[in-house]
Amino acid sequence: GPVLRLAGVHKHYQLGAHRIDALRGVDLDVQAGELLALTGPSGSGKSTLLNLCGLIDTPDAGDIELNGQPVNALDETARTLLRRDALGFVFQNFNLIPVMTVAENVDYPLFLADVPPAERRARVAAQLAAVGLAEHAHHRPDALSGGQRQRVAIARALIKRPSLVIADEPTASLDSHTAEQVLALMRERGRAEGAAFVIATHDNRLTARCDRVVNLLDGRIQCAPC
Ligand code: ADP
Ligand code: ADP
Repeated sequence: GPVLRLAGVHKHYQLGAHRIDALRGVDLDVQAGELLALTGPSGSGKSTLLNLCGLIDTPDAGDIELNGQPVNALDETARTLLRRDALGFVFQNFNLIPVMTVAENVDYPLFLADVPPAERRARVAAQLAAVGLAEHAHHRPDALSGGQRQRVAIARALIKRPSLVIADEPTASLDSHTAEQVLALMRERGRAEGAAFVIATHDNRLTARCDRVVNLLDGRIQCAPC
């Protein structure tokens, strides 16, 4: 079955007397290893959908399943554990920890998960080699280029072998050549690790290289050629 399944998902925000229906009945399946681009104009619901897929927020109505497990009924603690186990996150601004080295940033999720030190060292070294940053292991993020920082963030997102990586405008602060390299890396690493990616992006050059493009408009998925 799919890694992620959304069925009939609704989400609204209430601002005083004003109701904003951010998602109005979203159905979406994401398959293992799939690279899915989520597009749509500002305000169409992309961030809201990413927050639901990332188990950061809960829907008003509809069902969400991660690896076949319904997540709606989980309490906050169980959702947090599932998020740490099954999900990885990549952001526009990298969100690396500036006082930690590249290796320490990538290691941090394993440290939090109490993985034994020898295994942590081996996995971090392999992951850094896989994203082409072995020789930068002991540098701090501010010594790296934007593209290199995003490669660190991808390595960190994948270090716990998540089934799904949520990426919010991951190439928005990169030049187009670097953006293409970062997308290629997500594709290559996703395939190698068996992780699906849901990537919110405005960048048409990138959507063309994804397996599937889902376009949101006013909180609904537009069906492509119907
Ligand atoms: P996008 O990421 O595509 O720009 P969002 O999911 O951020 O879309 O927003 C969808 C709609 O919901 C917009 O009208 C936005 O203003 C509104 N919205 C998003 N988050 C909130 C919030 N926390 N409170 C109130 N309204 C919100
Ligand atoms: P993007 O367009 O990049 O998705 P936004 O600027 O729409 O980002 O939203 C940034 C943050 O502000 C999000 O966490 C979103 O939920 C929140 N937000 C968006 N619109 C509103 C709103 N009308 N009221 C309150 N919070 C909002």
